Amino acid sequence: MYLEKLRLDGKIALVTGGGQSIGLATVEALAEAGATVIIADRDEAVAKAGQASLKAKGYDVEVVVMDVTDSARVNQVADDVVAKHGKIDILVNNAGIARSMTPAETVTDEHWLNVIDVNLNGTFWCCRAFGNYMLKAKSGSIVNIGSMSGFIVNKPQEQAFYNASKAGVHHLTKSLAAEWGARGVRVNAVAPTYINTPLAVSVLEDDPKMADAWLGGTPMGRMGETDEIASVVHFLASDAASLMTGSIVSADGGYTCW
Ligand code: NDP
Repeated sequence: MYLEKLRLDGKIALVTGGGQSIGLATVEALAEAGATVIIADRDEAVAKAGQASLKAKGYDVEVVVMDVTDSARVNQVADDVVAKHGKIDILVNNAGIARSMTPAETVTDEHWLNVIDVNLNGTFWCCRAFGNYMLKAKSGSIVNIGSMSGFIVNKPQEQAFYNASKAGVHHLTKSLAAEWGARGVRVNAVAPTYINTPLAVSVLEDDPKMADAWLGGTPMGRMGETDEIASVVHFLASDAASLMTGSIVSADGGYTCW
């Protein structure tokens, strides 16, 4: 009974930013559990490379090109997915950007708006578009990728725009959970620590000393791997988490304990 609740056979799932890194690991986790999974990424080449890497592992996943900041395109993709598959069961809002290492007093309008647009607006456009279909079906599970940066202020890198965007994602998660809880749609989030992906590694490449601060601030003393986030997303997306909504689940090696 318990392992069965983790199965996703017959479910239709879409993962934004699913072409690589945390998104691609999540696509694999959901596909392994039996779901039909759609990679939605803004770069077709990245999405197709992700699709090919999963094909090599025995999983057939679909690809759609979608920029989450384009709400009209998001609505269109939601309509197309439901027209083709008849429903949408699982939405993972993973697409996100960081653009770290910029002191608040020097942040341009473009920089601030871009990060908020992808991380917060994009998450909402997708929740709204796919959530509407889930509400009609009285069934669905949304998992947003937040960040420990939504709880704490990272150090030493300066990234007020990113931290604010992820705190917004967390509270959006709780707000939607409250609005939709009685209508069959669960909304949860995962708050990762530093994960071994280009988004974090690019910051380390700019300043190798950053690793000492990051790992020294982490009780487990290491960064996370993409599969360690994907497995939490899989759990939250599945019926194993049937009583959970509005939860922001930390997967941070203990970073937020200190
Ligand atoms: P990556 O940059 O490795 O992958 C993100 C994917 O999202 C890329 O394929 C990217 O495409 C895509 N993407 C970016 N913007 C958009 C957009 N507007 N529309 C559609 N797709 C888009 O990031 P990670 O895997 O590291 O991060 C995934 C999520 O996890 C993000 O929300 C991030 O904030 C969060 N997170 C990451 C942490 C980390 O340390 N890595 C820590 C905590 C949270 P492209 O390459 O074209 O930009």
